[in-house]
Amino acid sequence: AKSQGRGNFQFFSAAMNTATHERLLLESRLWQALEQDEFELYLQPQVELATQRIIGAEALLRWHHPELGMVGPDRFIPIAEESGLILPLGDWVLQRACALLHAWRVPALSHLRLAVNLSARQCHGPGLLPHLDRMLHSHGINPALLELEITESAAMQDPERSRALLIELRSRGIKVAIDDFGTGYSSLSYLKLFELDRIKIDRSFVKDIESDPDDAVIVAATIALAHSLGLEVIAEGVETQAQCDFLRAKQCDEAQGYLFAKPLPVAQFEAMVRATTTA
Ligand code: C2E
Ligand code: CA
Ligand code: CA
Ligand code: CA
Repeated sequence: AKSQGRGNFQFFSAAMNTATHERLLLESRLWQALEQDEFELYLQPQVELATQRIIGAEALLRWHHPELGMVGPDRFIPIAEESGLILPLGDWVLQRACALLHAWRVPALSHLRLAVNLSARQCHGPGLLPHLDRMLHSHGINPALLELEITESAAMQDPERSRALLIELRSRGIKVAIDDFGTGYSSLSYLKLFELDRIKIDRSFVKDIESDPDDAVIVAATIALAHSLGLEVIAEGVETQAQCDFLRAKQCDEAQGYLFAKPLPVAQFEAMVRATTTA
């Protein structure tokens, strides 16, 4: 028993070392990565269910790490959030997003909306609004084509500040969506507290729509409730045609997920939009 206990400890300690090692490897390069242009925005199409047209995209960060290869945001956003790098990184994402919206001012692409994720620290820091104003102005962008996604948990870290921020954003014509809707402790109270344009139904509800009658009822009721409050609804993580058919039958406005496309490099996303609108 003693040796087994020790074996478990060694196993635990080896696993921890690997995790710590990766963390150090990521953390040590994270600041440099921004200077060396190792980040890239991928775009995942958002589809209007009534017409099946691509109406926009969500921008999702990727990091081309020189040793580890492509690193997803779940591995580095928490580190960036802790270390404070999320502020310059978040500014970079907004700047890239505005540059894209500027580049899309051509007939085939000018209808596209771009959704950008905001981190908790970005929302509660003082720099966001001035930075946004500069970006929108210098790129000459229609603010209604920019949508900012804020998670329930980020918004609830400081509800009063979030409420004020969302009012400021919407007074500029920028769209606001609540991300991962339904995963927080009191999702319904956000609908009362915050002024919003859209809710994003979390993938965890969409996943079992076909097999779990409770999830089906929750999703259908959420869509109806949001509509009666004048909000639009997008479902995320849509992977099957059956999920898509269900959402469409329940009048869900839009959907996003692997059924339509994974997050794509910008050029591939643009090619997909052009191919589907001329066809
Ligand atoms: P999120 O905002 O909930 O983004 C959706 C995630 O679900 C993305 O993961 C996307 O690739 C994945 N996904 C989309 N469709 C499907 C599907 O049909 N099935 C499954 N299984 N997954 C799907 P990704 O790109 O790894 O991003 C993870 C998270 O990292 C995001 O979750 C978001 O919270 C954060 N993130 C990404 N980019 C940024 C950014 O620029 N700033 C901030 N603050 N956070 C970001
Ligand atoms: Ca999101
Ligand atoms: Ca989400
Ligand atoms: Ca998520």
